[in-house]
Amino acid sequence: MAQQVKRAFRYRFYPTDEQAAELSRTFGCVRFVYNTALEERTRAWYGEQRRISYVESSAALTEWKKTEELAFLTEVSSVPLQQVLRHLQTAFGNFFARRAKYPRFKSRKKSRASAEYTRSAFKWRDGKLTLAKMAEALDIRWSRPLPEGAEPSTVTVSRDSAGRWFASLLVEDVIAPAPATNAVVGLDAGITSLVTLSTGEKIANPKHERRDRTRLARAQRELSRKVKGSENREKARRKVARVHARITDRRRDFLHKLTTRLVRENQTVVIEDLTVRNLLKNGRLARAISEASWTELRTMLEYKCAWYGRELVVIDRFFPSSKLCGNCGAVREKLPLNLREWTCDNCGVVHDRDANAARNILAAGLAASACGDGVRPQRESSRTGRSSVKQETQRATAGIPRRQAGEEANAAPDRRTGEGVRAV
Ligand SMILES: [Zn+2]
Repeated sequence: MAQQVKRAFRYRFYPTDEQAAELSRTFGCVRFVYNTALEERTRAWYGEQRRISYVESSAALTEWKKTEELAFLTEVSSVPLQQVLRHLQTAFGNFFARRAKYPRFKSRKKSRASAEYTRSAFKWRDGKLTLAKMAEALDIRWSRPLPEGAEPSTVTVSRDSAGRWFASLLVEDVIAPAPATNAVVGLDAGITSLVTLSTGEKIANPKHERRDRTRLARAQRELSRKVKGSENREKARRKVARVHARITDRRRDFLHKLTTRLVRENQTVVIEDLTVRNLLKNGRLARAISEASWTELRTMLEYKCAWYGRELVVIDRFFPSSKLCGNCGAVREKLPLNLREWTCDNCGVVHDRDANAARNILAAGLAASACGDGVRPQRESSRTGRSSVKQETQRATAGIPRRQAGEEANAAPDRRTGEGVRAV
C-alpha cells in the first residue's frame, strides 16, 4: 500500500541583494529571539525551578516588540520568530524527557543561519515561491522536480558557512512500497572500507574522499596561520567552509544512493549501534568524517525503511561481532586491529574480518527480530548513551552461539571497539 509521507526537498537559490539583506536581517532576529528566550527560560529554571511555556515565551516576544530598543524585531516577518520559539519548546521538551542535553545558545559564527516560514508567510503560485516581506519570487534552481501537484506546507531558508543559500520545501509525497523480497543484510562499519555487507561485498569510501580530506587539512592549516580579525583570515575561513561543504554534499549523495539500494534490495537491514564506538584511529579528521557518515547512514536507513515497509534492526554495541567465529561460535580472545583475515582456532575456517562481523551482526539481528517485535531504533536514548542497551543485548544476543565457560574471564577488551566483551 502506498504511503503518504511528509518529505523535504532542498534546493539552492540565488537571492537578489535586497532578498539577501532581508534574509540576513531575519536570521539575526531569529537568533536573537531564540537566545533571549533561552536566557529567560534558563533564569526561570535554575533560579526558580520554573518552566516557561511556549505561550509565555510568545507573549514575551510580543512585549519585546513594543519596546524601543527591540522594535527592530517588527521589521522582519513574525512567522520565523514564532517558529524558532516552537523549536526552543521542542528542545526543552527533549531536555525534560532526558532525550537531549540542555539547549545551547545559537552562535552567529558557528550555528547554521536559518528561518522557517509556514503557510501564511509565503506565496506559492505557478511553481514560484515568494517569501513574506519580499516583492520578488526566489530564484530557485529546481535540481529535481517536486512531486506532482505538491503544495509546500513549510519552507526553511538557510545559508551555510560557505555562503550558499538553500530553500527546503516540506511537501506531502506518496511513496510506493518496494517490491517484496526475502533478502536480508547485515552491515559492519569498517576502517578500510566504509561498510562491509554480510554478502562479503565491501563498499569503499568514495574515491575523492581522501583527496578532499587532504585539501581540507591544508585549508585548515592556512586558516590557523592567519591573523585573527584580518581580511585574509575571513578568506581562509570561507575556503575551509567551501571544502567542507563539498565533502558533506558528496558524502550525502553517496549515502543516499547506498541506502536506497540497500533498502530496496532487502526486507531486513541489520546494523550495529555505533553511537559511542571508538571507530577509527587513523587521524582525527578521518574519524570525524566517518562518524558523521555513520550517523547519516543510520538516519537515512531509519526513514527509508519506514517509507518502503522494511525492517531496520539495531543491535547492541557490546556484541562481539568481530571476534566471534560465524561458523562455530567460538570467540577469539584477541583480534588486533591490523589483522584483516583470521583463522578460527576451533574449526579452522578462514574469515575476512569485516565480512565475518557483518554476518554475525546479521545473525544477531535476525534472532532478535524473530523472538519479538525486533529491536527498534532508539535514537534519542542511544544518542545520550543511556538505556535500551541492556534490553537490546538480551534480545539481540538470543540465538547466538554461547561462548565456552571460562573464556569470558580472560576475554580481552576489543581493541577496535574499545569496549569490554560482555557475557552472552
Ligand atoms: Zn570457528
